[in-house]
Amino acid sequence: MTRSKKTLTCPAGVVTEDTYRSETAHTTIYRFLEEKCNCCVLKNKCTNRQKGRTVSINDNYHLILKAKEYLSTDEGKAELKLRPSVERVNGVLKNRFGLGVTKSWGANKYKMQVY
Ligand code: SF4
Repeated sequence: MTRSKKTLTCPAGVVTEDTYRSETAHTTIYRFLEEKCNCCVLKNKCTNRQKGRTVSINDNYHLILKAKEYLSTDEGKAELKLRPSVERVNGVLKNRFGLGVTKSWGANKYKMQVY
């Protein structure tokens, strides 16, 4: 899927401008019309919905693209190789010290649990 400011183009080349916002989820949701989707040859691979495909794009999606771009550089690949050692520590914290289950709500209280 490709996206410009207020439009989204699906793999079949259909462009939609039909959007709405979810402020609680910080996403823009694009709707493709069911008339287009129900006669599309790619529908089986795309969606099971009878009312047409919807696509939610988070406001921070550009950060994911930026991270993917960075990880394809030599510097990013070198940093990615360091990840298993960090993940091992995270695994011990989660499984052995119980940080996989929060005992209270809120980031500050969770930080206290970690300490
Ligand atoms: S099913 Fe709809 S959204 Fe999916 S590729 Fe076809 S026209 Fe595009």
